[in-house]
Amino acid sequence: MEYLAPTSIVEALSSLHQHRGSARVLAGGTDMLAGLNDISTVHSNAEKQSGATLVLVDIKRVPELRSITVRADGALVLGAAVTCQEAATHPAIQKCWPGFAEALAASGPAQIRSRSTLGGKLCQAAGAADVAAALMAIDACCRVVSVSGERLIPVSELILSPGRTCLRADELLSSIELPAPRAAMADAYAKVSSRSSLGKTYAGVAVALTVKEGRIDSCRVALAAVSLVPALAERAASMLIGNRLEPDVLARFRRQIAGACRAGVDSQQTADHKAHVASELAISAARVAWQRSAGGGSEGSR
Ligand SMILES: Cc1cc2nc3c(=O)[nH]c(=O)nc-3n(C[C@H](O)[C@H](O)[C@H](O)COP(=O)(O)OP(=O)(O)OC[C@H]3O[C@@H](n4cnc5c(N)ncnc54)[C@H](O)[C@@H]3O)c2cc1C
Repeated sequence: MEYLAPTSIVEALSSLHQHRGSARVLAGGTDMLAGLNDISTVHSNAEKQSGATLVLVDIKRVPELRSITVRADGALVLGAAVTCQEAATHPAIQKCWPGFAEALAASGPAQIRSRSTLGGKLCQAAGAADVAAALMAIDACCRVVSVSGERLIPVSELILSPGRTCLRADELLSSIELPAPRAAMADAYAKVSSRSSLGKTYAGVAVALTVKEGRIDSCRVALAAVSLVPALAERAASMLIGNRLEPDVLARFRRQIAGACRAGVDSQQTADHKAHVASELAISAARVAWQRSAGGGSEGSR
């Protein structure tokens, strides 16, 4: 096994290109290092056949990947190697996207948050991904770079299946771009953790909405840990658009959220329970986002 620690994006991309197929990006390492024995075993079998050595490309020393900047148009650009803890406590994130900050603050124990990175969260492509769900709700995009160029991918299109993203082997997720906040726009995140010692996400719901003339004008909802991968719940979001959070609207919303939860690795019983939990979380997140959208106010009347 070989370890490389580039200090620029160009150097990192050149390493990924040169060792395409045998190189792996190493970010916080909280997932990668725990699975390294497995990776080495799998890789060494392939290695015997191809003669290639596993190459870890550690991106933590690349300054551009570690910064948080506010663009002239108000968009926030977060380097892929920024840790969850750094992002959760950043004043601009807390002010503009409190729901995203909530998801970051809830994305694992303190030791994991202070080590794991935004890029690692997304590229790990786990179903229980609080951060991915929160980013989907606010319609964030990933900037993906390689020696042959760059592309911008909505976070909602990045994860294809558990453990698999649409990134090619020589591509690096360099930053995550959060749109400039619009007037009366707000987000919220609600989650329940499992009771195991690891406290992993049992179910999580992100809601982002805008309110115009007392009604919800736009809305995006994303779910974590209730399907194989985090995903948007578009039909549920559409139940809120054009409405206030009145009891009949919330009842339809609740049903759509439950319908969007898919039995995956869970038993049917757990899946049914998660659907119930997720629908309650969704209502709670929608209420908080509504209140935040104009600095508070009653649900039926504003
Ligand atoms: C005890 C425990 C509790 C946890 N609880 C939660 C929780 O409640 N909620 C939650 O959401 N998560 C939770 N996690 C998951 C944890 O947050 C992940 O381990 C973490 O997201 C991985 O990030 P990392 O930076 O350490 O990635 P790494 O381990 O370094 O990498 C993970 C994968 O992403 C790839 N990768 C990383 N960065 C990039 C990049 N920039 N471009 C391309 N590929 C890249 C790597 O090659 C690797 O395949 C928990 C983990 C543990 C161990």
